[in-house]
Amino acid sequence: MISSTLYDVAIVGGGLAGAAAVIALKQSGFSIVWIRPKMESIEYKVGESLAPAANPILAELGLSYLLDTPEHRSSNTTFSAWGQEALVERNSVIHLEGAGHIVNRAKLEMDLYSLATEESDLVIESKLKEISERNGNWLIPADSEEQNTVADKPVSTRFAIDASGRTQALGKILSKQNVTKLKTDDHLVCAYAFLKQRPNSEVLATPATLIESTKNGWWYASLLSNGDLSVNFYTDPDLMPRGVTNELDVWRALLDQTTHIAHWIDDAEFEVNSEPELTSAATRWLTPAAGIAKKAGWMAIGDAAASFDPLSAHGMTTAFWAAAQSQKIVASYLANDYSALQKYTDAVKKGRRNYLLQRNSMYSHEKRFRNNTFWKRRL
Ligand SMILES: Cc1cc2nc3c(=O)[nH]c(=O)nc-3n(C[C@H](O)[C@H](O)[C@H](O)COP(=O)(O)OP(=O)(O)OC[C@H]3O[C@@H](n4cnc5c(N)ncnc54)[C@H](O)[C@@H]3O)c2cc1C
Repeated sequence: MISSTLYDVAIVGGGLAGAAAVIALKQSGFSIVWIRPKMESIEYKVGESLAPAANPILAELGLSYLLDTPEHRSSNTTFSAWGQEALVERNSVIHLEGAGHIVNRAKLEMDLYSLATEESDLVIESKLKEISERNGNWLIPADSEEQNTVADKPVSTRFAIDASGRTQALGKILSKQNVTKLKTDDHLVCAYAFLKQRPNSEVLATPATLIESTKNGWWYASLLSNGDLSVNFYTDPDLMPRGVTNELDVWRALLDQTTHIAHWIDDAEFEVNSEPELTSAATRWLTPAAGIAKKAGWMAIGDAAASFDPLSAHGMTTAFWAAAQSQKIVASYLANDYSALQKYTDAVKKGRRNYLLQRNSMYSHEKRFRNNTFWKRRL
């Protein structure tokens, strides 16, 4: 039998949570196996509002400097037409942590991915398909065509972190063993597009973020640092108009249901000349989000632990928070003290409960459309 090399931690997933966890755990001197697919360089990635609460967490991780580039902008102003026709302004100067940011997601993720790649002791450039507990450690089997698994030699680790986002790769394996349960609360979907201004436009678009509710869902628009406009529409799958991703007229008609966002697009001369993409924005979680499977410790972080309605605008912050938590959790677990693991499980549970209450309260503020299906489902 081929023996495996033993590392401290396996981190599964190459998004913000996984990359930040690699960086955090290396700061504490742990050896890391990072399992994630190769990241392709892309122009845009959806989800750019970074809450002010992320500022102290990024400082703790030593990563604040990543936001000091012209691709990201600080974000002071959010307008919303939610529960009323008029736009209401909310200014983030009132936040103790300072201003939030509108980030270039593709750039932020690539920066973190490059840093974490350098830091990892072993990178397995693939998706995790199989992992199992053996004598208190995790075993990732060697690659074989038959099993279609990930490494060319077996690898063992003392702890495992699921940072695979809504895929919940480790969580799904553990749920089959009744170690944890997968829960889904809603199936929200998002149609999103990035609009460019008309060539030679001389209009200086306002650097703002705008939230607007309509009868079948809600909209988000934000001006990116490069002058493009990110536009998202959130609704339930059965309420998303058919053909929205391949018929431009359907997307334009949907945009016409907005008041303020449609004005912004017209006034600032943005062009709607391609269809949006569709992605899941469902609320899902694992319960518990961490523990010991047979005799090996694990935790889920970021969206793998709990994915939230983007209305909360806290997904990235929570991913960074959990990555920062992983330092002390792994340290105490490897010293046979499981209290930090339990504390994390409780904190995720409490955070999820608070989020559900806040989300319900936010939706209940919109009473104008209470007879429409999307809103009725959220009363
Ligand atoms: C439409 C939309 C808009 C959003 N807007 C905002 C916003 O404005 N502000 C905000 O804070 N949050 C927002 N969010 C939430 C935010 O994007 C997530 O919370 C955040 O991306 C979570 O990061 P993550 O690393 O946990 O997961 P992900 O970003 O999903 O990363 C998961 C990674 O795991 C990899 N992976 C998947 N399967 C496997 C496997 N089997 N093995 C190995 N790797 C695997 C994937 O390739 C990916 O690299 C939004 C979400 C959506 C859907």
